[in-house]
Amino acid sequence: MNQPLCRALTKQGASCRAPSLPNYDTCLSHTPELAGKVAEARRRGGTMAAKVRILEGKRLKLDSPAAVVKFTSGVVQDCLAGTVEVEVARTTLYGLGILLKAVEQARASDVEQMLAEVRALVNEVRTRRRA
Ligand SMILES: [Zn+2]
Repeated sequence: MNQPLCRALTKQGASCRAPSLPNYDTCLSHTPELAGKVAEARRRGGTMAAKVRILEGKRLKLDSPAAVVKFTSGVVQDCLAGTVEVEVARTTLYGLGILLKAVEQARASDVEQMLAEVRALVNEVRTRRRA
């Protein structure tokens, strides 16, 4: 496919040579009516990246159900306040759901192991008393 090239001139006065947009004879940067949309897209992209960094900066030890619930509540509130994009919140909440299950399962197996150790100790004490 032979895509037509942008007919605008660069600041140096040379031909732009970037591919032109469909239905335009100029490229994205040489189409003034789209400049606002480009700037907005860049701003949104930057905002999104900044928010992901903020979320990463919030890395907490999410090793207890209480910590997971607290963090989840923060994400929901940030999303409602508009400081975290809906898609970022959705992905984060999905991950938090998995994390919460994993933490609960880990705790259950910890409790089972602790119970087994307590039973072993009780048996040991009983055996010693009999001796
Ligand atoms: Zn151009």
